[in-house]
Amino acid sequence: MSQLQSQGNGKLYVVGIGPGSPGHLTLRAVEVLEGADVIIGNGTYLDQIDHLLTGQQVIRSSMGKEVDRASKAIELARDRKVAMVSGGDSNVYGMAGLVLEVAQHSDLKVDIEVVPGVTALSAVASLLGAPVVSDFAVISLSDLLTPWEVIGQRLEAAASSDMIIALYNPKSRQRNTNYIRAVEIIRRNRVDTVPVGIVRNALRPQGESVIVTTLGEAMEHDDEVDMSTTVIIGNSESRIWGSKIITPRGYHKKYEY
Ligand code: SAH
Repeated sequence: MSQLQSQGNGKLYVVGIGPGSPGHLTLRAVEVLEGADVIIGNGTYLDQIDHLLTGQQVIRSSMGKEVDRASKAIELARDRKVAMVSGGDSNVYGMAGLVLEVAQHSDLKVDIEVVPGVTALSAVASLLGAPVVSDFAVISLSDLLTPWEVIGQRLEAAASSDMIIALYNPKSRQRNTNYIRAVEIIRRNRVDTVPVGIVRNALRPQGESVIVTTLGEAMEHDDEVDMSTTVIIGNSESRIWGSKIITPRGYHKKYEY
């Protein structure tokens, strides 16, 4: 006999809610959130979808309690429509992974839909102009779940490959030295004139800031980097144009304009 309990009418949605402004939520995300019986997530993300909370049961959970949150959501989703919210995209350092892992290890059979969202990389890149129009690597500097040695090796590999690099989780309250170590690794592999974009609270109603600088001067803006910031380091072809960064895709090699 199967260990799985029979499936009820419930469903679990892991919803990426985008960078933080209502205009950058997808229509599917809005539809799922409006139709949910229960919405579960941490306070910051729930505040970002406040305008959609119109009577659904809301469960606020705290940072660091992600495993409990995932188990609870799976249990509730046996017979209710449950939306677990995740900032940006639900795959990019988001809750989709943990929810699927916990579901796989659980005896409960739940129907799961992962709803994508606009990730920080896209939000930040849009404010900088066109810094990411070629191959890029996304690296999180958080060593809570990945050891620093692994992060350092990935930084080295990405930096030496001339790929554009986006740094997520550059700093947290407890951890602020990884960022300078990362910049040092990248500087060993790239010239100081490479453009750097430092964007905090991209596409959020409050606190947005956008800085365009160079790799050689990036640490002069160290104070602007916190847990709400994403840093983009261009490749050898990226250039600064006024307050924007352009990374050419290569059209200029084939066409005249
Ligand atoms: N799932 C999220 C990322 C979670 S990791 C996504 O897809 O965007 C958290 C990190 O994302 C932050 O430390 C920061 O580096 C980045 N981030 C998230 N939202 C951001 C925003 N609005 N502006 C700048 N960086 C952001």
